[in-house]
Amino acid sequence: MLTHYSAGDTGAGRKGVGPLIAPLSDTLRPLRQQVFECVRAAGLIPRVQVAKDLGVSPASVTTITSELIDSGLIEEIAAPPREGETVRGRPAVALGVRASAHRVVGMKISDREQTAVLVDFAGSLIAEESIPRRPGPMTVEELLVVIETLLARVCEKAGVRRADLSGIGIGLPGFVDNAEGMVLWTPLLDSRNVALAALTSQRVGLPVWVDNETNLVAMAELWFGAGRGLSDFAVVTIEHGVGMGFVMNHRIYRGTQRVGLELGHIKVQLDGALCRCGQRGCLEAYVADYALAREATTALNWGHKEGQSITVLLESLYDHAKAGNATARSIFRRAGRYLAVGLSNVVNLFDPALIILSGERMRYDYLYAAETLAEMDNLMINTGRPRTPIEIHAWGVRLWAHGAAALALSAVSETLLAANRDIAAQ
Ligand SMILES: [Zn+2]
Repeated sequence: MLTHYSAGDTGAGRKGVGPLIAPLSDTLRPLRQQVFECVRAAGLIPRVQVAKDLGVSPASVTTITSELIDSGLIEEIAAPPREGETVRGRPAVALGVRASAHRVVGMKISDREQTAVLVDFAGSLIAEESIPRRPGPMTVEELLVVIETLLARVCEKAGVRRADLSGIGIGLPGFVDNAEGMVLWTPLLDSRNVALAALTSQRVGLPVWVDNETNLVAMAELWFGAGRGLSDFAVVTIEHGVGMGFVMNHRIYRGTQRVGLELGHIKVQLDGALCRCGQRGCLEAYVADYALAREATTALNWGHKEGQSITVLLESLYDHAKAGNATARSIFRRAGRYLAVGLSNVVNLFDPALIILSGERMRYDYLYAAETLAEMDNLMINTGRPRTPIEIHAWGVRLWAHGAAALALSAVSETLLAANRDIAAQ
């Protein structure tokens, strides 16, 4: 049906329709940034290939790469001749990120261990260091001391002065607002709403970025792992809690409140088991290590010994399960069924290309046994298509810290490329 406007309609009241798109959406990132990221992703790449990959003219790539070389972010590297090839005239030249241009530190702060890695601008590991700690909440001051100590140790090991670093990325469990550098809640601190990025930055004199640790595992997969070639995937971690990092369109999805997706606190049982967040029936309260430990102490009639570590208790439970103890097996199987509820909800909501299960507990293969996967099939919408693939990546804490380093590298390069743009615009 046509809409008839009156003769007097001047169109002055028109508001426009369709989504309002921010001026710097992904596809409109400055070409300078796209070129840099293309070189970083490739490792080594000839100019002509950058132009092809980005669909721009070789001339504009040449202009931009000259600027990036002048500002020290990338460099020309003689490409080694291919086997059997004789080099005539000028050797072929490829572009790569100038590894020594910047160095950053990534840290994973957890209940049991603090780990730091120091990496160069190309993302290669220079040194790593970790310090064990006793579980339990810390004061903010205690956490700052831990960060400062860890930083000093990893710098010493790498032979790098603190002043030569360009920033620090820090990952920790809980609700973290990456954009504001705020830790809204974490089981590691005895207080809420801590401006951790600003406080750490004041303490160590470097730029600091903080994020939820599971987002940083997703970041590590996106930068170094299976996620490099995927646009949408989920990383689910099971450790002291249950976390999920979700990558949507090659970026970490954080939501409007910017704390990301809290898979561990989706409800799998009304009025169910008590969760450490204070609510009842959360997935975490059935699957995380403290949930398994609670069941183990009750079902196997093991008194909780003072100072006994949860890891020792779970190892023992696992050994019993492997040896055929029916109660021990049923504890893992039950946790696995709850995990299936959580994972099938992820598939039903987001339809990712891949779900990566990560974290220490993934060694407990009962958690993702055939029954768990069969349970998932029962709970997922049936499209008649194959089940979303699930991979187990039982990588260690170094990977988590590497994700924190990727967060810092990404922030440093974005800041530099924005600064570059300002210089160019003058
Ligand atoms: Zn909860």
